[in-house]
Amino acid sequence: MLSDATGAPRALRPTEPFDVAVIGAGIVGCASAWRLAEAGLKVALIERESAPAMGSTGRSAAGIRLQFSDATNIALSAASLAEYRQLPQSGYRPIGYLLLVPEAQWPDHLAAVALQRRHGAPVQVLSPEESNRIVPADTTGLAGATWCATDGVLDPHGICLHYAARARERGAQAMYRAQVTAIRCESALWTIEAGDQTIRARQVINAAGAWAGEIAALAGLRVPVDAARRIVFASAELPPSISRAQPYPLTVDLGTGFYFRSEGQRLIFGQSNPEDRGFSEGIDWNWLDTVIESALDRFPWFDQVSLDRRASWWGYYEDTPDHNAIIGRDPAQPGWINACGFSGHGVQQAAAVGRLVAQIATGEPPFIDIGALALARFDGNAGTRGASERLIV
Ligand SMILES: Cc1cc2nc3c(=O)[nH]c(=O)nc-3n(C[C@H](O)[C@H](O)[C@H](O)COP(=O)(O)OP(=O)(O)OC[C@H]3O[C@@H](n4cnc5c(N)ncnc54)[C@H](O)[C@@H]3O)c2cc1C
Repeated sequence: MLSDATGAPRALRPTEPFDVAVIGAGIVGCASAWRLAEAGLKVALIERESAPAMGSTGRSAAGIRLQFSDATNIALSAASLAEYRQLPQSGYRPIGYLLLVPEAQWPDHLAAVALQRRHGAPVQVLSPEESNRIVPADTTGLAGATWCATDGVLDPHGICLHYAARARERGAQAMYRAQVTAIRCESALWTIEAGDQTIRARQVINAAGAWAGEIAALAGLRVPVDAARRIVFASAELPPSISRAQPYPLTVDLGTGFYFRSEGQRLIFGQSNPEDRGFSEGIDWNWLDTVIESALDRFPWFDQVSLDRRASWWGYYEDTPDHNAIIGRDPAQPGWINACGFSGHGVQQAAAVGRLVAQIATGEPPFIDIGALALARFDGNAGTRGASERLIV
């Protein structure tokens, strides 16, 4: 027996389980923790690092765009943009996205523009000459370009720390330096071993980013999320010949995937290497040759850009087979909710995802139709238990 403040004996009761345990304190986990706590749930936020935003969130290129080709992604980014616009901590800067489109992609691209406009995105279709007034380029092989002035950049750290603080204010308990190493489910109650803690919860949110597949496997579940290294190269301060008062928008050559934008007085730039899969670490400097070749082909003035090796960085995309997120309950384990696999768009969609996760966990209808993001879309085995089923007791 313990005694209370009056000295009267008090029975020792086992700690009440949490309503929800969120695994991962990146932008998706923090947004979810906040919205779950706001909905009145008792929330644990579990993170192996010493602070939020130390996974992919802190390594993103920070872009937000409504120029997607499918309705669900447009809706997720549009709802998130509406929230970020109201949030000073988001650091939202509408520098615009300029997409340069080769002839072969033009018909599909124009079809997507119609969809984007239906969702309220102010997308303009430009001729190569009009596009050249925004960013000079060699327009060989280009059918045209599209421009959305409200697309832009965010401050992922600012947003993530803000959400983590809001979650704490609403009573969420954040546990850092708590690496999840085992997960089991018994009688609809989850037990999570994390660092030196054992956490019990009625529902689990898998917000572990590129590590979401590993986390699911600990619970004997299968979530097809793979890490894919991405490198962001940074230039030195631009010389006067190519620096300008207005920032360079986020400009993408859709022929190669080469992109760049202004970051202060520098440019940041890159191009996905489709062969770079898995948890490789560090910057692959060999890939720089391909990136520079793509840059010079389309933007000959790039020969005046010099590299700042120390300011360049790398991180992991969290790729699914169709490069779209997985949001929703696991069909095999209804107490398990995935919010992962954002495949390079998680920062810009997190605000909406936090609200959706809270709606799923509390049984409310989702405010965006996310049926297309169900785990079951992948294959006959998706959602079934994997090789580590033995861990479920
Ligand atoms: C180079 C690069 C550029 C990008 N550019 C953009 C962009 O322009 N726009 C955009 O929207 N998105 C972009 N992204 C993608 C974006 O960063 C991610 O989609 C987003 O950060 C995912 O957030 P998250 O919270 O799901 O994952 P994360 O931020 O990775 O958080 C997952 C957390 O889980 C924790 N974790 C993992 N395993 C365990 C464990 N066993 N126990 C406890 N904790 C664990 C990790 O430490 C991590 O903190 C980019 C990513 C990269 C790498």
